[in-house]
Parts: sequence; C-alpha cells; structure tokens
Amino acid sequence: MKPNIFIEITTHCNMSCSFCPSPTLERPRLFMDDNLFYKIIDEIKKEKITDTVYFHLMGEPLLHPSVFDFMEYAFNNGLKIILVSNISFIHTRKMEIKAILQYVTYLSISLQSFNEESFKEKKTKKISFNEYIDLIKDVIETKYANNSKVRINIQIIQNSKVKFKNYKKDIRLLSNNLELRLLMDLYFTNFFKAIANKYQLDYEPVKEQKLNYKNFHYQPFDNVSISTRDVTTWGNTMNESNKVIPAIIGKCDALHKQIGILANGDVVPCCLDYNGSIVLGNCQNVPLTEIMNSNQYQRLKEGFKKGRLYHPYCKKCKGGTNLINWFFSQAYSFYKNRDI
Ligand code: SF4
Ligand code: SF4
Repeated sequence: MKPNIFIEITTHCNMSCSFCPSPTLERPRLFMDDNLFYKIIDEIKKEKITDTVYFHLMGEPLLHPSVFDFMEYAFNNGLKIILVSNISFIHTRKMEIKAILQYVTYLSISLQSFNEESFKEKKTKKISFNEYIDLIKDVIETKYANNSKVRINIQIIQNSKVKFKNYKKDIRLLSNNLELRLLMDLYFTNFFKAIANKYQLDYEPVKEQKLNYKNFHYQPFDNVSISTRDVTTWGNTMNESNKVIPAIIGKCDALHKQIGILANGDVVPCCLDYNGSIVLGNCQNVPLTEIMNSNQYQRLKEGFKKGRLYHPYCKKCKGGTNLINWFFSQAYSFYKNRDI
C-alpha cells in the first residue's frame, strides 16, 4: 500500500475561517523552498514512494509563487495531483485556470459556505460570495470548454454536534435542508443544466430525497460533484472543551495511507498534525526514505496497525470528552481502519 503524500507548499492562507486551525497556527508562515519541493518529487519518483501527491495540509497552495511550476514538475514526473484549494486567489490575481485543469487530477474546491452570510465566516474582503460562486462556475465551464479530465468537487462544511474552539451560537454553517435547497436553487441548478446542454453531457437532476444537508453528495454530470461534510475538532485539538480523555487503544491509517510534509520539510504522520507535534524527521537534508525506515517511524506505523497509540497527540486524537464518545471514538477507529 503506497501512502498519499500531503505536501504543504505554504502555511499562508488568504482566508481565516473560524472552523479551521489555520488562523491560529503556531508554526511560522512560510513558503516551501523550491529546491525542497523538487527534491521531494525527485525522491518520490526514484523510490516509487507514491503515485499521488496532495497540494494540501495547511495553507492555501495557490498562494505559492511557484505553484504552477510545482504542478508541472509533479505532473511531468507521472504523479497524480490532488489540489485542495479555496481557489479565490485566481480571482484576485487573474490566474490562469487552464494551467490547473491541465495538471491536476482532482480539484477539491473548499467553498465551505452556502450564502453571503455564511461566507463571512471566511473573513475575506477581497471577493464577495457572488464573485466566488461565479469563479467556481468559470472553473467548471473552462474544464468542459478545454476538454479537461480533471474531477472537481465543491465542498461545503456542515454543522455537526461537535463544538469547536471559536464555536458561537450564531455560527453560520450549513445547518438544514432549506439552506441547502436555496444554495442549489439560487446558484447551481440552472448553471448545471446550462453546462449539460452546452457541452451535451448526461445530466442527472438533483432528486428531492437527495436534498438532505447531512452528507449531501450530488453529481450532476461526470467528474463534477458537490458535497457536504461535518465540521470537525481536528482530532480534539480544536475541541471547545479542553477536557479530553486520552484513548488507550486505537487504529489509524496514518503512515499506511498518508504522510504529511510540512512547509519546512518536517515529516508528520497525518494532516491532523497541523502544528507538527509528531515530527518524524526533516527531509531538507535527510532522504525521505531514511525517515520512513527509521525505528521511530516504523514503531508508530506498526502501532497504528495493531491498535497501539504511542504518542500523546494520537491518544488525544482518538480520545473523547466524555466516556461515551471516548469509547465510540476508539471502537470506530478499529472499524474504520479494519483494512490496515
Ligand atoms: S478552511 Fe481553507 S480557506 Fe479557510 S482558513 Fe482553512 S485553509 Fe484557509
Ligand atoms: S491518531 Fe495520530 S496519526 Fe492518526 S490521525 Fe490522529 S493524530 Fe494523526
């Protein structure tokens, strides 16, 4: 099983969403050094470490001045690129959408909001909600106009039972079916129909019973979808309550299915370790394979398979704020990762 590599090419973000750890990141804001990026890709290619790189962990990848060179390089080295982006920078900088559609296999657009009011949670003044929606439509239209094979998902965050830090009563996250229906009716349904007509695509109208905001997933036509997902506490690190009972046991797919490389080259097991609490080595001067073969790395990886959590950060991640969710969180980790 080859792990996906999450490469954080920058810690900067042009938005400041209340439900994301990015605004309160404890690490320095920086851009990954170009040479480090190329070194990582060269090694991935030479050692056949993975087939897929994510341009994602924290930060907004399109802010990196060399992002298109990075995409081209990874693409030319035969890697699939998954770009997770709020894409708003395309609007501010009038970036070339076609370059993204040429190199990227899967584009996950972090729309997250569902109307003007909820868009305020992203705390940006550089683009309005309507301009943002138009930009997303423009990306989709450009995909079909240029016959690009990229898969595009538009992701919206939905309210869930968890209360994260910064949670407030008037938090504007998608919370009911009516809000979802309005989003679809006002902004997307006619657009999807028009695109289907213009480019002669098989079109699937959204079904009434599908308009359920909880885990909505709708694919109007091939390779374009819109979906919702629960807001999380990022492994209890953003839990409103500081009282987390640490897990005793737990399985995890980190190091088996994913590895993170932070912008300074630190290697971490997963994208939930956004502050670099479990640094397994730094790949600036040490080969990535040497880090992956180290005792510390292998012990952690083997532990995740056997249900043993060695690091306090992992015990917190799989723990709970009361005995019931503590129990279910651990049990669910075994169920979810039964294939590890
Ligand atoms: S959710 Fe995305 S856009 Fe918002 S602060 Fe986090 S990284 Fe930036
Ligand atoms: S258990 Fe540890 S490695 Fe796994 S997701 Fe949580 S913090 Fe990451």
